[in-house]
Amino acid sequence: MNPIVIIGTGLAGYNLAKEIRKLDAERPLLLLTSDDGRSYSKPMLSTGYTKNKDADALAMAGVEQMRESLKADVRTGVRVNAIDRAAKTIQVEGETISYGALVLAVGADVFRPELGGDGGERVLAVNDLDDYARFRTAAAGKKKIVIIGGGLIGCEFANDLSNGGYQVEVVEPVGRVLPTLLPERASAAVASGLESLGVKFHFGHSVKGVWKKDDGVEVELSNGERLAGDLVLSAIGLRPRVSLAQAAGLEVGRGVKVDRCLRSSDASIYALGDCAEVEGKVLLYVLPLMAAARALAKTLTGSDTAVQYPAMPVQIKTPVCPVIVSPVAPGTEGSWEVEAEGNDVRAVFRSPAGAVLGFALTGARAASPAEKTELTKLLPPILA
Ligand SMILES: Cc1cc2nc3c(=O)[nH]c(=O)nc-3n(C[C@H](O)[C@H](O)[C@H](O)COP(=O)(O)OP(=O)(O)OC[C@H]3O[C@@H](n4cnc5c(N)ncnc54)[C@H](O)[C@@H]3O)c2cc1C
Repeated sequence: MNPIVIIGTGLAGYNLAKEIRKLDAERPLLLLTSDDGRSYSKPMLSTGYTKNKDADALAMAGVEQMRESLKADVRTGVRVNAIDRAAKTIQVEGETISYGALVLAVGADVFRPELGGDGGERVLAVNDLDDYARFRTAAAGKKKIVIIGGGLIGCEFANDLSNGGYQVEVVEPVGRVLPTLLPERASAAVASGLESLGVKFHFGHSVKGVWKKDDGVEVELSNGERLAGDLVLSAIGLRPRVSLAQAAGLEVGRGVKVDRCLRSSDASIYALGDCAEVEGKVLLYVLPLMAAARALAKTLTGSDTAVQYPAMPVQIKTPVCPVIVSPVAPGTEGSWEVEAEGNDVRAVFRSPAGAVLGFALTGARAASPAEKTELTKLLPPILA
């Protein structure tokens, strides 16, 4: 029997393989990855300085251990560039591999800002274990990091790098932190928490250019202001990797378009994780990919299973002001009800009819599991 071939060994690829093995110990499984195949939890990348863990310490298992535990062939350092859908094959290093089912678990790429200046090599992004190792090497012995972007990843790194003893400045054009996730009062609480660690914000301006300056950088903002630093961390968002699917003629929107069974416009090709758009939803988080891995494992072992997404609030790892949020899609009708005391905020978004559609808890309010549980129960499922 031709193997199930999974492209990608991030949380999506490896969790799918684990779920398949719970249901079928024998089906041939082949995983291919352009990285070194170590298993790690990507959310931990923005906690490394706080926990004093470098990239090696964050890795949970090497590729040999993964091959054994999954009873799977795992090939590392291979980039898949083309799919022959008619022949149901892919080409890898000159070899033609046939698949019974093919799964895209290729993740998302970081947006790279268009910047002027000659300092591009000192602008780093962290989206995998190798990036993290490069960042730690570049930041070793340095003092000041400028972060571009005050979203989830920018704020988490601002907190983590401050805990690691760095001076941090954050440039965020929208005018407040976490603008797509939180209402204003909750954003203010997180910014104030981070400021208490010494983080300096530059709101309302974008970064125009980065220049080399001795061993460090000079960062030019859109208002002409210039910030001195040692290194720049770019954290302006992620974009699902769709080029492989696109080149193969699969339907692609923001991500690889799949139905509730995670099946693409080709009945033998599936997608999950950061690269997938499931019934129009692109959710770049861990809980949705775990739900998708459980459902897809059932489908691939013989019983078609639709993925269900319950409400899945996201925890933002800013320990100085913890956050739990169930975001509201832009344009949703309704309004926020906010209770706040200092950095402890409870904000609930209600529809005009009074239904709870989202919430945000910060500070001590986020630390109480009871409040999160109570509000989560009131939310509608993301995909019923
Ligand atoms: C710093 C940071 C903090 C985060 N914190 C949280 C959090 O607290 N909570 C949360 O829910 N989510 C968080 N996320 C998001 C979460 O980590 C991701 O949603 C999840 O890890 C995505 O997993 P994935 O397997 O889909 O993609 P990836 O982990 O990106 O894996 C993609 C895999 O595909 C391989 N690949 C890509 N293209 C090819 C190709 N052409 N050929 C072969 N191999 C290929 C790559 O080598 C890799 O193995 C965070 C993300 C970051 C960056």
